[in-house]
Amino acid sequence: MTFTDKHEVLKEFFGHGQFRAGQEELIDAILQGQDVLGIMPTGAGKSLCYQVPALMLAGITIVVSPLISLMKDQVSSLVQSGVPCAYLNSSLTAPQYAKALQNAAAGRYKVIYAAPERLCTQGFLELCAKVRVSMVTVDEAHCVSQWGQDFRPSYMRIPEFLSRLGYRPIVSAFTATATAAVKNDIIRMLSLQSPVVKTTGFDRQNLYFGVMQPKSKYKALREIILRNKDKSGIIYCATRKHTERICEKLCADGILCTRYHAGLSDEERIKNQDDFIFDRKPVIAATNAFGMGIDKSNVSFVVHYDMPKNIESYYQEAGRAGRDGSEAECILLYSPGDVRTNEFLIENSNENADLDPQTAAMLRQRDMKRLELMRDYALHEGCLREYILNYFGEQTDSEGCGKCSNCEGKYTEQDITIESQKILSCIYRLYQRRLRFGMTVIAQVLTGAENDKIERFGLKTLTTYGIMKDETQVRIRAIIRHLQVKGFIAVDEHSALTLTERSAPVLRGEQKVTMRLREEKRPSKAPTGVLVDTDLFGRLRNVRTELAKTMGVPPYIICSDQSLRDMCSKLPESPSELTAVSGFGKVKAERYGEHFIAVIKDYLSEGEGAKYKYISTEHFTSLYDAVVPNAGKLKPLDEAVTVRRFCDDILSQLGLNIKTGTLSNAVNEWLVSENYLCRRENGRLHTTILSEGAGLSAQSHISERGTHYFNIVIDPQGQEFLIMNLEDILKGK
Ligand code: ADP
Ligand code: ZN
Repeated sequence: MTFTDKHEVLKEFFGHGQFRAGQEELIDAILQGQDVLGIMPTGAGKSLCYQVPALMLAGITIVVSPLISLMKDQVSSLVQSGVPCAYLNSSLTAPQYAKALQNAAAGRYKVIYAAPERLCTQGFLELCAKVRVSMVTVDEAHCVSQWGQDFRPSYMRIPEFLSRLGYRPIVSAFTATATAAVKNDIIRMLSLQSPVVKTTGFDRQNLYFGVMQPKSKYKALREIILRNKDKSGIIYCATRKHTERICEKLCADGILCTRYHAGLSDEERIKNQDDFIFDRKPVIAATNAFGMGIDKSNVSFVVHYDMPKNIESYYQEAGRAGRDGSEAECILLYSPGDVRTNEFLIENSNENADLDPQTAAMLRQRDMKRLELMRDYALHEGCLREYILNYFGEQTDSEGCGKCSNCEGKYTEQDITIESQKILSCIYRLYQRRLRFGMTVIAQVLTGAENDKIERFGLKTLTTYGIMKDETQVRIRAIIRHLQVKGFIAVDEHSALTLTERSAPVLRGEQKVTMRLREEKRPSKAPTGVLVDTDLFGRLRNVRTELAKTMGVPPYIICSDQSLRDMCSKLPESPSELTAVSGFGKVKAERYGEHFIAVIKDYLSEGEGAKYKYISTEHFTSLYDAVVPNAGKLKPLDEAVTVRRFCDDILSQLGLNIKTGTLSNAVNEWLVSENYLCRRENGRLHTTILSEGAGLSAQSHISERGTHYFNIVIDPQGQEFLIMNLEDILKGK
C-alpha cells in the first residue's frame, strides 16, 4: 500500500489537519528523491517529516535511532496509528529478532527502527539485500558529531552501512542541535548529497518562560505544582541529594511525586520512570540524567530547582514541556549559589579525563563561559524568550514576547544613550590598540575591575577604564546584549565585540538609544490558556488510561492531552466527527472511537447546556465584572439543584448571556479548592466531610444509557452560601 497524497496521509494516519512550519518542505524534498537535513527544536514535529514520506515511498524506510526507549515509543505510536512497523534492537530476544527480520523480509513493514550497532550485522545486511530500502533516516543526527553534546561512536557505522547497501537510498537526517559545527559535521559524516537543509525557528510559542529568585525555592515550587493541579511536570535538580530531598518533601505534602537519578538501582529507575510516564505519579524530581529518550507529550511544566550549567541544557530540558502543543510553563528558580555549584561541577568534572591537559583546560574555559551566559539569563531584565533565541543565533525584531516573566511586568523606556556611548568607546579604544575582547572583559574594564587580564594587557591606562564603576557588571552586560540585538555591536567568531556601521551615529551623539526596563518584578504567573470542563476531561482521560492498560502502552501513545481537550471542545458523537479532533486519524478513530464517544454521549445526556465546555479565560473578566456588582440582589432557588442548574439560574437572574460552564467551572473549582468537594482520580466530583455544612449532597441519577451516576446537588442554604462567596469564587479568574 502506497499513498500519493501527503495531506491524506497526514490526516488518515496522524490525524492532523495541516503541516507545521518546515515539515512540508522537507517532505516534498524527500519525495523528490533529495537528501534532507531537518534542524528543528524538540517538539516541533521532526518524526512526521520522515514518517509521512515513508508511507508514500515504494520500499521501506530504515530509521536509525540511538535509544531503545525512543524506538519503542515511536513504534507503539505508529502502530496505534495503523502504520505497519517494528524495531530491531537488543531488547528483542533472539526468536523475536528472527521473527521481525522474517516479517521485514516479507515486506510486512513500511518503517523499521534500528539501533546503529545493528546496521552492519550480517542478519541486517541480508535483510537489506532482500528488500528495497527507499530511505535511511538518521534520527538525533548530532550523535554523529564529535562536537555535539552526545557523540555516539556507533553512529560512525551509518556511512559504512550506506556504502554496503550497493545502492544509494535517500538519506534524511534530523536533529535539534543548531550550531554550525554540528550541522557541517552531519552533512560531511553522512555524506549527504546536496541536501535540502531546513532550520525552523527555535521559538516554542506554547511555552511560558519564567525566572524567579524566591526566598524559599521549595515554597515557590509547591505553588507552581499546586497551580498545575493534576498536570504532569518535571523538577530538575543539580544533584542526587536535592532530587531525593525534594521528592521526599513533596510526597510529605501529599503530592504524587517520584524521583530519578543515576544513583538508583536499575529496577527503581525503570519503575519510577514508568510511574511518571503512565501518569501514576504525575510529578518527577530528577537530575539531568532523566529525559533523553523520554517523549512524554503531556508534560505541562518543567521547573529547574537549580540552575543548569548552560542554555543548551536549559532549553533542551525546559523544552520537554508542552510537546503536544498545549500551553506549558518553564520556570527557573534561581539563587546566586547556583553559580558556585556549577563552577564546582565544571572544575571537578572528569568528563574530559582522557583529554590532554590543554584541551581539557580549553573545554573547561568554554564551559565557564557558557555558565556565565546562563547566569545572565537568570538575571536578564529583557524578554527571556528573546534572550534564548538570540543565544541560538536568531534575531528578534519585536519588543518582547508578552509571555515570559519579564514581559509581564510594567516597563519604562529608558534612555541609555550615555551608557551606550561609554561601552562603544571602550570597544573603540581597544580596537585602536588592536585588542578585541568579549563582553566579560569589556564590562570589567568599564567597572574598573582588577584582575590578571586587566594587568597583563595594561587596560588600566585606557581612558574608559572605570568610567562605569557605579554600574553593576550584570547591568552592563544587559546593555551590551541589547546593543547587540539592535545591531550597534557585532560579535565575531571568537565572541569578541566589535563596532558596526550603526555604532558611529551613537558615538557622535546623533542617535538616541533606548531600552525597556522593568519597573517592578511581579511574581511569575501561569500562562493564560483555555480551561476545559475537567469533569468531562477527567472521564475521557480515564477512558484513555483504560485503553492504554489494555494495549500495554503509555496513555499518551493512545492520544495526547491536546486531543482530549479538543474532544471536550468538539464533543464528537460519531467516529467520523472524531476525525475532526486533532491527533485522530481514521485508524485511531475506528479503533478507539466508540469508547470516547460513549462517554461523550453519556455526558451530553446528563444535562442541557452541557454542550459548552471549552472556555476561554477571557470570559472570566466579564463574568466577574457582571456578576460581582449585582451579587447582593441574587436569590437562591427553593430546591436542591445541581451546580450547573444553580449557575444557569444565576445567569438568567442577571440577564447575562454567558455560557453556563464558565460559571459552573469556577464554582466547582472553588468548591474543590476549599475542600467542600473533592475530585477523584477518575475526574468526577465527590462529597467530603465538609460537604454537608455547605449544603452539598450526592443524588443518584441514571443516564439514558442506563449508567449509574451520582450528581452533586446543592440546597437553598448552600446556594446562598455560594452567592455570598461569588466574589471570592470569581476573583482572579
Ligand atoms: P520532535 O521529534 O521534533 O521532538 P515529535 O515528532 O515527537 O517532535 O512531535 C511532537 C508532537 O507534535 C507530537 O505530539 C506530534 O503528534 C505533534 N505534531 C507533529 N506534527 C504535527 C502537525 N502537523 N500538526 C499537529 N501536531 C503535530
Ligand atoms: Zn518575553
